[in-house]
Amino acid sequence: NEELFVNAEKLTIAGQLAAGIAHEIRNPLTSLKGFIQLIATGRVPNDRYSAIMNSELALIETTISELLMLSKPQMNEFVVIDLRQLLKESIQSLHNQAKIGGVKLEMADQPQPLWVKGVESQLRQVFINVLKNGIESMHNGGKVTVAFRQADEEMDEEDHSIIIRDEGVGMPDEQLARIGQPFYTTKDKGTGLGLMVTYKIIDNHQGSITAESQIGAGTTFTVNLPQHHMPHSALVEK
Ligand code: ADP
Ligand code: MG
Repeated sequence: NEELFVNAEKLTIAGQLAAGIAHEIRNPLTSLKGFIQLIATGRVPNDRYSAIMNSELALIETTISELLMLSKPQMNEFVVIDLRQLLKESIQSLHNQAKIGGVKLEMADQPQPLWVKGVESQLRQVFINVLKNGIESMHNGGKVTVAFRQADEEMDEEDHSIIIRDEGVGMPDEQLARIGQPFYTTKDKGTGLGLMVTYKIIDNHQGSITAESQIGAGTTFTVNLPQHHMPHSALVEK
C-alpha cells in the first residue's frame, strides 16, 4: 500500500518529529502558564480554572505516553496472543468512554482462536487507538463493530484480519491520505499521534492496515497480522 509506505517514510524524519513534539507540548504549557499567572495575581478564585488546567495537563500526558509507546524496550517481548482476547480487553477498557458518547461497541462471534505473535501492550494500544477514533467519529452516538477474518491457507491468506467499522463522520480522500502523519489531527483535543503509533507498531509486527471511508456514512479500518501456527502439542495440553 503506497499510502502507508509514504507515512512510514515520514517517521524516519526525526527533526520533523522533534519540532512537532515541542510544538504540541508547548501549546498546553503556554496555556497553563497563563492560568498560573492569572491565579498568582490573587484576583481570581483558585479553583476557577482547575478543570481547563487539568485538561491541558491531560493533553501533555497523552502526547507523552503515546510517544513512549514507540520506545519501551523492556516490554518488547513477543508472546503468543489470541486476538479475540485482546479485542475483548481493548473493548472493555473503552467501556466508559463509549457509554459517555452513546456508542455501542459490538464484537462478532469468533469460535476459533486467532493466534498471532506480538507485544501484547503494543497490540492492545493499536486496537484501543482505532476503536477510540471510531467512538470519537460519532457525535450523536452509534455503533462500532469488530469483526474477524481468519487466515486461510487454501486462499493463500496468511494473515488474520480485524475489521473495525464505525458509523461516524467519515473522511474525504485528502484526509484519508494524511492520517498517520505525525500530529495530523482534526480534533480540538487531539494529539494526531494515535495512528502514527498504530502504523509503526503494526509495521513492527509485519502486519498492515487499510482504511476505507465514506463521508457521512463511516469508516472501516482493517488490521492484518500474520497468523502464528500453534504447535500441535500446545493445542492438546489446553
Ligand atoms: P487524534 O485522534 O488525536 O486526532 P489520530 O492519529 O488517532 O489522532 O487520528 C488522526 C486523524 O484521523 C483524526 O483527527 C481524524 O481526523 C482522522 N480519523 C481517524 N480515525 C477516524 C475515524 N474512524 N473516523 C473519522 N476520522 C478519523
Ligand atoms: Mg486518535
